[in-house]
Amino acid sequence: MKEDILSKGPVAFLAEELGLHISERLLAYQSWWEAEGLPISMTIDRAGTPHLRQFSHTGERIDQILYPSSYAYLLDAGYSAGILYEVAEKHNWQLSFMLGFITSYYDPGLYCPYTVTFSSWAAIYKYYHGPRREEFLNTLSRKEPPFGQGGTWMTEIHGGSDLGSNVQTIARSAGEIWLLTGDKYFASNVGADLAVVAARIEGAPASVKGLSLFIVPQDRSRGGGRNYLIRRLKDKIGTRSVPTGEVELRDSEGYLVGEARQGIYYIMEVLNFSRVANSIGVVAHGVHALAQAYRFAQQRRVFGRFLVEQPLFRHELHQHYMQLKWAGALAWLTEQWLEAVWLEKPPYSERYLTFRLLTHLAKFWTAKVALHAAQWNLEVWAGLGTLAEFPPERLVRELIVTDIWEGTRHRHLLDAWEVLKRYNLLPHLQKLWDISAIDKTLFAEIEQALAHPEEEMIQSIEPLLTRLARAIGQITAKERAYKVLP
Ligand SMILES: Cc1cc2nc3c(=O)[nH]c(=O)nc-3n(C[C@H](O)[C@H](O)[C@H](O)COP(=O)(O)OP(=O)(O)OC[C@H]3O[C@@H](n4cnc5c(N)ncnc54)[C@H](O)[C@@H]3O)c2cc1C
Repeated sequence: MKEDILSKGPVAFLAEELGLHISERLLAYQSWWEAEGLPISMTIDRAGTPHLRQFSHTGERIDQILYPSSYAYLLDAGYSAGILYEVAEKHNWQLSFMLGFITSYYDPGLYCPYTVTFSSWAAIYKYYHGPRREEFLNTLSRKEPPFGQGGTWMTEIHGGSDLGSNVQTIARSAGEIWLLTGDKYFASNVGADLAVVAARIEGAPASVKGLSLFIVPQDRSRGGGRNYLIRRLKDKIGTRSVPTGEVELRDSEGYLVGEARQGIYYIMEVLNFSRVANSIGVVAHGVHALAQAYRFAQQRRVFGRFLVEQPLFRHELHQHYMQLKWAGALAWLTEQWLEAVWLEKPPYSERYLTFRLLTHLAKFWTAKVALHAAQWNLEVWAGLGTLAEFPPERLVRELIVTDIWEGTRHRHLLDAWEVLKRYNLLPHLQKLWDISAIDKTLFAEIEQALAHPEEEMIQSIEPLLTRLARAIGQITAKERAYKVLP
């Protein structure tokens, strides 16, 4: 049975189901997680929200997050394995995402610090050419501890989906730098050495066209103390391995990324990185959920047989397994496209727009498939699954969060539809993927729906886009054609 791979950990799934080349380094990282990482991760999840120490004994704001010392050990393992420097130094993206897959198999919350560091590095690499460029890039790609970290802080209290209307942080010019004032409501990896932050330059329009992106270091220049303050830490149901806090910007020093009022493009590019990472990470965690179900069913007896021998169990396991395999293929395909197009700047090519579409499809569909797998695992463990002392409930908690952050399902459905319609991508998709053997009528149905007014097509976009995501994943899994690009 192919599902036996589930007993072998994440690397086996990458190699045998997704056809990716596995190095000794990946095997060593997986072994480290089994032996040392997982127990630490479980402790951090159980220990709850870390403590925020806001003041020094002399009364200065220091805003330091206190984790157990093992947290740094856990976090450093990924950085030491090369999750960042392999990209910065050698542009070895696939290795980085594979390390992310392994990390996320055990702890998707921990993949967040790496991801936001990666995406802030990429934004700076691509668009910031100011005097501190080398310093910022070097901070984020160190090979040895102390590792520098990034953050990507856009969302404010009034909502994350509609950034154009809801970003109220203001940037005022102060010579070579900018001074930012405002509050970020969800700031993950808070405590980072620097973050890329969305703000509106004084007088800019109150829409997406008024947004700009800034680099905000943790400390002010010339020893001026903390540059941003942490109001409080969030007590989250999942992803507890990354601290998420509320950030206060009070005349905080900022460095403009790229051009003023072009921020929406940079923000979307930053988000695209983390959406790809999220897609890869949730598949890994979903596979972990199936591994838990399989392990449980091998020793649980029901009606005279081990559960694993019951046809209904085997059927359902197989269904979830195949969905995750296709979701994994879609996620890796999107990663390959990201590598191919990430240096493109607006106005984007058709290739880039196709990547955007893939990213929306991958984000919403992988998150949904993985969450279903985790809910099913809980059902398999049944009563025991509801107990906090066993693994299933954490898997569900983690995957509820990963379904929502990086954009909710609604947003991805609507954005995927918009990019498909506005840029007339359907003929391009038809050339790229011959899905007729899998879903004969899909392209014709999408074409029909695209011709309908918005109110009418709204009811069909989720089923159609789910079928599209699945079909592209299925065909990619079959052909293992990740590298095939136009
Ligand atoms: C643990 C965690 C960490 C996070 N970390 C960060 C971070 O580091 N940086 C950052 O910038 N953000 C971060 N976020 C914020 C996250 O990106 C937002 O939660 C997400 O984008 C959704 O925004 P919202 O929660 O404000 O919901 P809203 O945008 O207010 O949406 C509310 C509801 O409306 C739906 N909706 C939106 N538009 C439509 C529409 N047109 N039609 C129908 N329904 C619609 C949404 O899908 C949702 O169900 C984090 C969130 C969480 C939970």
